[in-house]
Amino acid sequence: MAISSWGQGAHILNFGRNVRFNPRRYYVPENEAEVLRILTAHAEGTVRVVGALHSWSNILVSEDAVIDLRRFNDVEIERDDDGNAWAVVGAGVLLKDLLAILRDRGLTLPVLPGATTQTLAGCIATATHGSGLPSMSHYVDGVRTAAFDAQTGKARIHEFTGEDELLAARCSLGCMGVMLSIRIRCVPLFSVLESVQRVESVAEVLTSRRGFTFQEFILMPYNWSVYVFQRRPLGYRPEQESRLQARFYRAYKSFVQDFLAHWILILFLNVIKRPGAVRWLLKSVFPSVLLTGFNVVERNDRVLARKHELFRHIELELFVPLRHLEAAVESIREIISVFAGTEWDVSFGLAERLAEIGLLDALLEKRGAYTHHYPIYFRRVLPDETLISMTAGAAEDHYSISFFSYSVDQESFAVAAEFLALAINLLYEGRPHWGKFFPLHYEDVAQFYPRLAEFREVCRQVDPKGVFQNRFTRQVLGFDQGPLA
Ligand SMILES: Cc1cc2nc3c(=O)[nH]c(=O)nc-3n(C[C@H](O)[C@H](O)[C@H](O)COP(=O)(O)OP(=O)(O)OC[C@H]3O[C@@H](n4cnc5c(N)ncnc54)[C@H](O)[C@@H]3O)c2cc1C
Repeated sequence: MAISSWGQGAHILNFGRNVRFNPRRYYVPENEAEVLRILTAHAEGTVRVVGALHSWSNILVSEDAVIDLRRFNDVEIERDDDGNAWAVVGAGVLLKDLLAILRDRGLTLPVLPGATTQTLAGCIATATHGSGLPSMSHYVDGVRTAAFDAQTGKARIHEFTGEDELLAARCSLGCMGVMLSIRIRCVPLFSVLESVQRVESVAEVLTSRRGFTFQEFILMPYNWSVYVFQRRPLGYRPEQESRLQARFYRAYKSFVQDFLAHWILILFLNVIKRPGAVRWLLKSVFPSVLLTGFNVVERNDRVLARKHELFRHIELELFVPLRHLEAAVESIREIISVFAGTEWDVSFGLAERLAEIGLLDALLEKRGAYTHHYPIYFRRVLPDETLISMTAGAAEDHYSISFFSYSVDQESFAVAAEFLALAINLLYEGRPHWGKFFPLHYEDVAQFYPRLAEFREVCRQVDPKGVFQNRFTRQVLGFDQGPLA
């Protein structure tokens, strides 16, 4: 059988336009037999699969072969006698398409990220998460994969349905082979009650977190106010969605928040280019764009997924344990103020701690080097049953802290992001999201992933020659560290 796309080279650019590469071969196979033939042809090379290219880290890069599974787009629903449901989803299916299919059957996914334009396979590979629950990876019960045989070295199909193989495949960074389909748990379609409130402190947010499963909050730079999105699930109530208040809320969010506010921000940042004006926008205009005091019931995906894909941006996301959250917030406030040049120095306590880790002078040298220009997002992520997702096997809840940049000046963002990632890593055990801007190294993060060596070992069972590795995964996952002792 001929392979339908013995592709020539390709030029690949990710969503954020910060990762670009030119693989020698780009394949769009039609079926599993073709995937196996591609693996056989590249058994001595490097193979990466791309989804919707929404990642910002170098996780995507392959100079050799790239496989695009857009033609693997079947979705089947399975139910057991107790009414539990699973979707078996082809690796090329976009989240938004999967949700539409599930919706027709009265189902949805337990957890949703802020955008739905990624593939489910890509989401699984990097432990994409929402708020208030473990990541999506946690809900995967089976993965069908094309990889190699440890004994013969030949390409073959593997079914991961249990034990460490499944835990590794649940968040694999693409190192466990080519995912062909994913079996993921579903839940009945539900609505979410949302209200937005301004609160006095992060402590106040934390006090109410148990009553609001999908709670998240933002810290508004430069006036440093805290706004909490109080969200809790309700049974599905379609009639509530057509209420005037819900319709107004939806239209306002789409036009004013998702479109207009972002458009104006980008104008200020990239055309007017005056840091003072950008700070004014955040301090004085953005808070009034939030609709506080409304109680609205909406379908889950309308509330939980925002339209973050509308404008190109780049994101650093750091995960910190709950016990460090409040201190981390305070340090972030001070660091961002120094970077923006609105504060000349940090408090005595932070200065001492930064001096201890050798970062104080580095921060003070960066005064005025970068104006952070977006609300800082915080989401609660519960422990995952995986080997290496950001909350793998954690003993406590974590909070993810997101720094978005819409500036065309990605270099200034990179400098600030690198500093923040290192400081929050050393002070508060922060670890970056594998799929987002990733400025750290194996030495910085390995201690937070106690099952990393087991992960490497499981990967070697299906990929003895490291075909599914690239420079990024070798470096950050420590594949260069030698075999498991
Ligand atoms: C607008 C936007 C919003 C986002 N919101 C969130 C969010 O709310 N929460 C969150 O956690 N993340 C979020 N992300 C990050 C995003 O979900 C992850 O980076 C995800 O991995 C991207 O999926 P993708 O389909 O684009 O995969 P890609 O970025 O193309 O690939 C990601 C990884 O998956 C691997 N991969 C993809 N398909 C396969 C396959 N079939 N077999 C093996 N490996 C495969 C690739 O090799 C690569 O290593 C967001 C990103 C953007 C751009």
